[in-house]
Amino acid sequence: PEPRLGNPKNTIEILQKYKFVFQKKFGQNFLIDEHVLDKIISAAGIGSDDFVVEIGPGIGTMTQYLAYAARGVAAVEIDKALIPILQDTLSLYDNVTVINEDVLKVDLKKLADEMNEGKPVKVVANLPYYITTPIIMGLFESHVPVESITVMVQKEVADRMQADPGNKNYGALSLAVQYYAEPYIVANVPPNCFMPRPNVGSAVIRLDVHKDPAVKVKDESLMFGIIRASFNQRRKTLQNSISHDPKLGIDKDMVAAVLEEMGLSATVRGEALSLAQFAEFTDRVLSHK
Ligand code: SAM
Repeated sequence: PEPRLGNPKNTIEILQKYKFVFQKKFGQNFLIDEHVLDKIISAAGIGSDDFVVEIGPGIGTMTQYLAYAARGVAAVEIDKALIPILQDTLSLYDNVTVINEDVLKVDLKKLADEMNEGKPVKVVANLPYYITTPIIMGLFESHVPVESITVMVQKEVADRMQADPGNKNYGALSLAVQYYAEPYIVANVPPNCFMPRPNVGSAVIRLDVHKDPAVKVKDESLMFGIIRASFNQRRKTLQNSISHDPKLGIDKDMVAAVLEEMGLSATVRGEALSLAQFAEFTDRVLSHK
């Protein structure tokens, strides 16, 4: 059946029927705009062969759209007060499994293996903003078979994910996301598309996950340690920020030597380096250690 929840009237009706109380701590802002919902489904490119994992279905608004378009949906919702509501709003769809769990505690790799025979799934969500980064980095780092991740996030976070070197939003999150995926901002979404309205602007971003990471590097965790240190204090030179992080064990002379080998200025800052340059920097540091 066609979705019917994506408007204020039907949403309010369901919330009142169950006397639902919004929980601020769970980042609950439900979508009430059919155009935005259609846009997310088409941006995610959901087809009748796809298996979708939805994080935080809420009252099941987007879940109805996903169930209508996809072969199957697994939806993970932490708030147990929403489970009876989901049973009601999804009762006419036989291809949805609701899991009442904290998504950060679910073994999503096992879920994808069991529900989609290990084939890549699509992740689609209007994310709870307080845990956007741990959810997305968790998906990448735990090697869940994922083809793409299409999510509503805070606008500022979407801008950081998509930023290139030199841009004011460029930083550790840009590099981490772009190591694993190609980001495309699909739409900006104003607060009045949600109930209740969030205090920030939102954006839909699609991340097309690379088969192999965007660059080759000998020690991935050293590279991300270097990246984090480089952006910890924005105004500092690479030489200072890296040599001042005791965990890295890289002194000033070593940084200077590597920068010279790479033909970079001794006073260069992290915001000027591309992902490929951070990978090269890391490999060269290793050969000095
Ligand atoms: N998908 C619905 C929509 O678009 O209307 C709701 C989106 S709302 C922004 C985020 C949802 O994630 C809420 O239903 C919230 O209860 C749920 N949530 C928050 N933290 C969660 C967690 N750790 N694991 C699973 N779901 C969570």
